[in-house]
Amino acid sequence: MNVYDIVIVGGGPGGSMAAKTAAELGLKTIFFERGRRPGEKNSSGCGLGPRMWKDFPDLMKELTPEKCPSMRAGSAARCYFINEEGVVAGYVMSRPTESVSYEPAKSWITMNCYRSEFDPWIAEFATNAGAELKSSTLVVSLLKEDGKVCGVVDEHGEKYKAPVVIGADGAISIVAKQSGLRTKWSKDQITLVPQYDFHAPPKKIDDIMGDEALAVWWSATFPASYQVFFNDGFHQGLGNWLIKWDKNPLFYLNRVINLKYYQRLLRILEAKPRELQSHLLPWLQYPYNTHTDGVILIGDAGGFPCPLEAEGIYPAMVTGKIAAEVAADAVTSGDASKNKLSRFDKMWQKTSVGEEFEAGEELYNIWKALPFSPKETMTWFVPMLMEALGGIYDWSQPHTKRVRQIAAHIKSYMPQALPFILKYVFPLVAKIFEDDLDDMMDPQKLMKALPKVMELLPKKKKRRRRS
Ligand SMILES: Cc1cc2nc3c(=O)[nH]c(=O)nc-3n(C[C@H](O)[C@H](O)[C@H](O)COP(=O)(O)OP(=O)(O)OC[C@H]3O[C@@H](n4cnc5c(N)ncnc54)[C@H](O)[C@@H]3O)c2cc1C
Repeated sequence: MNVYDIVIVGGGPGGSMAAKTAAELGLKTIFFERGRRPGEKNSSGCGLGPRMWKDFPDLMKELTPEKCPSMRAGSAARCYFINEEGVVAGYVMSRPTESVSYEPAKSWITMNCYRSEFDPWIAEFATNAGAELKSSTLVVSLLKEDGKVCGVVDEHGEKYKAPVVIGADGAISIVAKQSGLRTKWSKDQITLVPQYDFHAPPKKIDDIMGDEALAVWWSATFPASYQVFFNDGFHQGLGNWLIKWDKNPLFYLNRVINLKYYQRLLRILEAKPRELQSHLLPWLQYPYNTHTDGVILIGDAGGFPCPLEAEGIYPAMVTGKIAAEVAADAVTSGDASKNKLSRFDKMWQKTSVGEEFEAGEELYNIWKALPFSPKETMTWFVPMLMEALGGIYDWSQPHTKRVRQIAAHIKSYMPQALPFILKYVFPLVAKIFEDDLDDMMDPQKLMKALPKVMELLPKKKKRRRRS
């Protein structure tokens, strides 16, 4: 029997962060990876958020193009809007705005790199700290004593005992299932995400995309599709909850690829398809059942990807670090009971990940109803938005008449837009401004403000007519 202080199943960003932290805290640590090396099985997940640099500065300053040649900073992001005819009706380009408060978030939106480089890079910190990495090893079951988890068994029947097991084994977590924390995700908690990986010459990407490295394709004919540029290629993928797929997901992904605009982009970038990948990704309103006696679930295994955009690498690293700290305390005190490990919930709830889930339900609902309901919502949302953003660039009428035309046309979408606003936008706004709402809605303050607002309104003037 192999005896450790902590056993971690999974060598993704969450598992490696947990292993690094545990080893640094002096725990005898082992982490398992079924791939021949970390990242081999993880072609998914590629955009790293600036919060990683804010929260793990010493670690992230070590991520350099020498270590990770595919790195590319996403300084500008583009949203394409595609109408029902498959035409790019418009796009919006954005960069970090004035209100963004810290570097490097002021300089870029995401740092993109391939997981085949990122995962081994972060795992090396764990092994350098003294954690033992057992790669090419599939964990097949949990060891139990008196019904409580006390270790794992690998595919060769080898047993590894430890008071705490961390489930960092991703979307299809055997640790979650065998510990009794979950049977399987329900179909509205898990998404399936196919993506193409294209190669393109780095110079072409530089010349054509400049510092743009991220795009979202919003459409009435497919669920929102993302495009992420690396140094020598890019991903084009789209996901949706299992409950929402009415056809093979590739049918919708190919709709993106077959857009005339997209085909042009492929031609000028001299892009060649390199790989087709498909992954599951949990996408929840709130992570629940994250721990029991001797077990903590982190990252995707615990359902931690962001409820809006499903950013999952940062939450995996944050929860991995906290889980290792809680485990160290449990090992030292000789108490790895569910009650003792409940500190894990209290700790992640206080982090930026916890704050993200404060409006988890509302964020999840609006996202699901908007870009991921193309037929129900995007069919009116795209033309309405384009009318507002692009309608004025039209010389077919005098501008004043054009503005009245646009306003009337936007008004015609109100039977669809208003119920959406009431059902999804108001609850989200109310949640976000929960604390300020009483103050904002104070009738006395509103009455005081009213005359001032009235003064600002334009007075109707008599029209001047030329004689
Ligand atoms: C297509 C796609 C694109 C995404 N894009 C982004 C993005 O741009 N940015 C972002 O932040 N997030 C993104 N995500 C989410 C992100 O990939 C995940 O949230 C993140 O990888 C979670 O990390 P983790 O360590 O919890 O799990 P994983 O990264 O899934 O790692 C789990 C590891 O455990 C190993 N493993 C599993 N079972 C066993 C076992 N029984 N025995 C041994 N080893 C095992 C696996 O091989 C794997 O290496 C994306 C997800 C998908 C599907």
